[in-house]
Amino acid sequence: MTARLIDGKAVAAALRAELAARVAALPYRPGLAVVLVGEDPASAVYVRNKDRAAAAAGFVAHTIRLPAATSEAALLAEIARLNADPQIDGILVQLPLPPQIAPAHVIAAIDPAKDVDGFHPLNVGALASGRPGLVPCTPLGVMRLLAAAGVAPRGARAVVLGRSAIVGRPMAALLLAADATVTVAHSRSRDLAGECRRAEILVAAVGRAGLVRGDWIAPGATVIDVGINRGADGRLAGDVAFAEAREVAGAITPVPGGVGPMTIACLLENTLTAAAGRRQAGR
Ligand code: NAD
Repeated sequence: MTARLIDGKAVAAALRAELAARVAALPYRPGLAVVLVGEDPASAVYVRNKDRAAAAAGFVAHTIRLPAATSEAALLAEIARLNADPQIDGILVQLPLPPQIAPAHVIAAIDPAKDVDGFHPLNVGALASGRPGLVPCTPLGVMRLLAAAGVAPRGARAVVLGRSAIVGRPMAALLLAADATVTVAHSRSRDLAGECRRAEILVAAVGRAGLVRGDWIAPGATVIDVGINRGADGRLAGDVAFAEAREVAGAITPVPGGVGPMTIACLLENTLTAAAGRRQAGR
């Protein structure tokens, strides 16, 4: 059997179009502020893509570029300014930050109602305890991909590989909230292959090219590959050995063109959610 491909580009384009239509019907334009400190080239590319996608969907994108030598105090002052600005609905500080700035201080300084990355401890706590809040974009994108592919998490055995704060943990929490039976496996798990073989939904978020082999996958399983690994030849590869996995899985995301495009679309979704939430709360 050859697995069905889950086309993240198409799903993301449809989500962006839906968001654009919702924004066009609003009496205001939601504002997204992206703060970039320093000149990390990969971050600069991400920020440009976020900017473009936001503008194309009718959001107002504000990019704030600060020099690499910016002090933590100066960045916190900038965040305080954005927190107080009524035109700004979402604030995202691009990571990684230069070494003189503690990411935890910065994340905690963002107004949780504008925290479109979902990294603020209040939003992390809300997700962990099953309360509403803003949730991290990449795992939210995975949930949107599953829905678009017609894969229902309810009652399914889901295995998440990786336990990072950005992907693995919030992914597990979202799957749990969607009534899956969730296992989180990681670098200290004793039998990764065995854990994976039990999965009806397998989400790999590790950062090791080709770690998940074809014989780790249950026939017919849905495989979502979050990994982005650049090989020596410059090509991108996921955490899943795609050619092998494709022969066993029921549905699978490619890399690139799977989860990646969903992240920015979900950032826009979060910005719209934040904009509506703030207005509902009269803020
Ligand atoms: P991370 O390094 O913070 O976490 C990796 C996790 O994998 C850790 O929890 C660790 O326990 C686990 N791990 C490491 N080696 C392992 C092994 N050999 N076996 C099992 N588990 C192992 O990374 P992250 O930020 O969670 O990102 C994971 C991957 O997802 C990376 O490739 C990253 O580039 C990619 N990513 C993609 C997107 C996207 O938009 N598609 C967004 C974020 C991250």
